[in-house]
Amino acid sequence: MKEFLIASHNLKKRDELARILKPLGITVITAAEAGFTLTDVEETGDTFEENALLKARSGAKEGKMPCVADDSGLCVDYLDGAPGIYSARYAGEHGNDEKNIEKLLFELKNVPKEKRTARFVSVAACVFPDGREIVCRGECEGEIGFEVKGSGGFGYDPIFYAGGKSFGELTPKNKDKLSHRGESLRKLKEELL
Ligand code: IMP
Repeated sequence: MKEFLIASHNLKKRDELARILKPLGITVITAAEAGFTLTDVEETGDTFEENALLKARSGAKEGKMPCVADDSGLCVDYLDGAPGIYSARYAGEHGNDEKNIEKLLFELKNVPKEKRTARFVSVAACVFPDGREIVCRGECEGEIGFEVKGSGGFGYDPIFYAGGKSFGELTPKNKDKLSHRGESLRKLKEELL
């Protein structure tokens, strides 16, 4: 299979994408490795699908090579699906995981366990320079805990619980087996084949 560009400025997400895709036989490179600087795409879409495609289209155009991008987030039922596509900037500052977690725990203060259901969503988009596009969605059901647990992963991992453990407590391998991103990328591989 060909080499794919990964369009992401989030280092931890980029590592995770590469880690999941490698055993699937998909080799990825960053823009820096390909010798250019990736433009920061404004995520103006209303859905994960639209935003993933915006990032992958821009990467494929700039890199002149097939490009994979993920748009993802956390949807909390009690908050009518928020923070959703705004997960990275929920507390205002893009990518401040600590502040985002603090805000979410505050919004769910006094909300009982049975009403704390949530899901992680990942949409993986792959765009080829000739215009072909593939879009795949993965979801992982869980709930928002009352406290931070574990130091693994990134983003909301330490407060997202599935099967009794937070994502922050899982090994990378176990997170990939369960996660929204593991699912979207495994589907992507099937589509690529
Ligand atoms: P994006 O770069 O706009 O797709 O931002 C995704 C945001 O959603 C991240 O910054 C995290 O806050 C959150 N997120 C997405 N996937 C995960 C995950 O696997 N674990 C924890 N947080 C995630």
